[in-house]
Amino acid sequence: LITALAGGVGAAKFLYGVVRLIQPEDLTVIVNTADDAEIYGLHVSPDVDTVMYTLAGLADEEKGWGVRGDTFNFLEAMDRYGHDTWFRIGDRDLATHVSRTTLLRRGRRLSEVTRTLCKSLGVKSKVLPMTDERVETKVSTDEGMMDFQHYFVERGFKPRVRSIVFEGVEGARPAPGVLEALKEAQTIVICPSNPVVSIGPILALEGIRDAIRGAPAWKVAVSPIVKGAPLRGPADKLLRALGMEASALSVAEIYRDFLNAFVIDEQDSELVPKIRAMGLEVISTNTIMKNLEDSVRLAKAVLGAKP
Ligand code: GDP
Repeated sequence: LITALAGGVGAAKFLYGVVRLIQPEDLTVIVNTADDAEIYGLHVSPDVDTVMYTLAGLADEEKGWGVRGDTFNFLEAMDRYGHDTWFRIGDRDLATHVSRTTLLRRGRRLSEVTRTLCKSLGVKSKVLPMTDERVETKVSTDEGMMDFQHYFVERGFKPRVRSIVFEGVEGARPAPGVLEALKEAQTIVICPSNPVVSIGPILALEGIRDAIRGAPAWKVAVSPIVKGAPLRGPADKLLRALGMEASALSVAEIYRDFLNAFVIDEQDSELVPKIRAMGLEVISTNTIMKNLEDSVRLAKAVLGAKP
């Protein structure tokens, strides 16, 4: 049994490899929901959708979000009506958000709704939103406070970040099944996701860090930072906003209290002694995933390192 902590794209690419190596039923994914957004009154869960579409084999790997081959007739029509269209919702993707929102309005919890959506898409792994409650990443920038999707998508992570808060995280409980999945896992993997705004909110939920620390599993994380830079997104800027340097070392530092092993890219192999000195096993390998073979190769290197 493998339990993974996941953000969006980096995580999804890795997990796509994992389910080629194990029975998909043996994988549970705990996904960040702190960058969920309300768009046109619809509940959009970008990270959950990326993981769900990828595991269903529907993801648009070129763009990194949305459904492959999707069309944008709806968005064009919204544009004609004068709405903002910076958040790109394709026609098929729209059906996901409408379904989710409809079920939530009928009183179902996000975790139940996610299970229903996954079932319809034929996803056999368990995809769990980190919580059923509302936690919202807010970014304080030189252009003021903004929610994460405005900072990330609309403003293209250009504003200078001063600080980051996860509103509502105090008192928010992990979704049903989350703590159990951590307790029962043989391996817990922290996917190559943004450590600050994707994995950060999951770890900030009450009980999660302790549950990981106390779990009998072997615990491993894959660095999303290679050669001091993220492969996409603002992880470097956000690490610096927290006063840390943008490097795999900082990521190891954030997770070291609960990890057994840390996976870095072979281009960062000079960091091996420093990470070992933190008391972690280090696996240095090619962590860059451009296609399915890369994902499988990385998943093999990570899971195969378990003693
Ligand atoms: P987002 O929510 O869609 O931004 O996705 P994530 O939280 O998964 O974060 C994206 C992170 O994944 C970035 O920091 C990237 O550097 C990292 N990432 C994306 N692709 C890869 C890859 O092929 N290899 C590794 N090691 N990291 C990746």
